[in-house]
This record gives sequence, C-alpha cells and structure tokens, in this order.
Amino acid sequence: MHMTPCTDQVIGDILSSWRYDISGISPEMRVDYEQHFVECQHCHSRQRLHRTVDVTLIGLATISMLAFLLALSVIHRVEPLRNWAVMNLHLHQIDVVLTLQAAAVVGLLISALAWVLVAIATPAPVYITGVAMAQARELQNRLPRKAA
Ligand SMILES: [Zn+2]
Repeated sequence: MHMTPCTDQVIGDILSSWRYDISGISPEMRVDYEQHFVECQHCHSRQRLHRTVDVTLIGLATISMLAFLLALSVIHRVEPLRNWAVMNLHLHQIDVVLTLQAAAVVGLLISALAWVLVAIATPAPVYITGVAMAQARELQNRLPRKAA
C-alpha cells in the first residue's frame, strides 16, 4: 500500500502524538484538525487505523470477559468442576491449590481491568458512540416522515 506523505508536517506531528484522536479537545480547536483530516490522506488513513485498533482491543476485552463469565456459570453449575485443581504447587511445605473456579474469577477480573484501561486510554467509547449515533441518524432520515 502506497502512503502519501502528510500535507502539513507540523499538524501531522501533533495529531500523531495524540494518536489521531481529536475528541478530547474543544470544538473550536477541532475545526482546523478536522479540515486537515479532510485534506490529508495520510492522516486520515492513520486515524482510521488507530480507531480500528482501539475498537479491536475493546472488542477482544469484551469477548474475553463474556467467555470467563460463561465459564464461571458452567463451573458454578457443575459441582466436580468447581474444585478441580488446575495447579497444585508445593511451596515451602504449603499447598497452593488453584481451582478452576478461582482461575476463572482471576481471568474475569483481568479482562475487566483490561477493558477499563482500554476505555480510559483510547477514545474507543467516544468513537463507538459516534458511529452508533451516525447510524441512528441515517436510519431516522430513511424512515418516511410522519405527516404533521
Ligand atoms: Zn497530515
């Protein structure tokens, strides 16, 4: 894929340091950058790439959370699974037993933490809300208008 160079390196560098996310700045300041995204093919494709990565990350964290929730509900219903030891360590005369249920709880907590971190560190929630709202508007425009 051929990449065209940025049309304005100064703006391009600023945008790059923001990971091409302008959702955090004031609407008046945003105008210039939005104009740059329209004019500059380079930054526009970079912005799309970064937002795709953000959405993929939050998607993976969501799927992982759901998988662990499902695993927990299965483990909870099947008695023998609950106390099934995944790991049995003998550390300094102390038995450390990690059960399947405990492993699933830990997995769920880690994926929930990953989800929160992605939501804080990236504009994924803002981006997803924006896309959903744009789609809702489009749907609304397509519906026949009710006669007043
Ligand atoms: Zn640019």
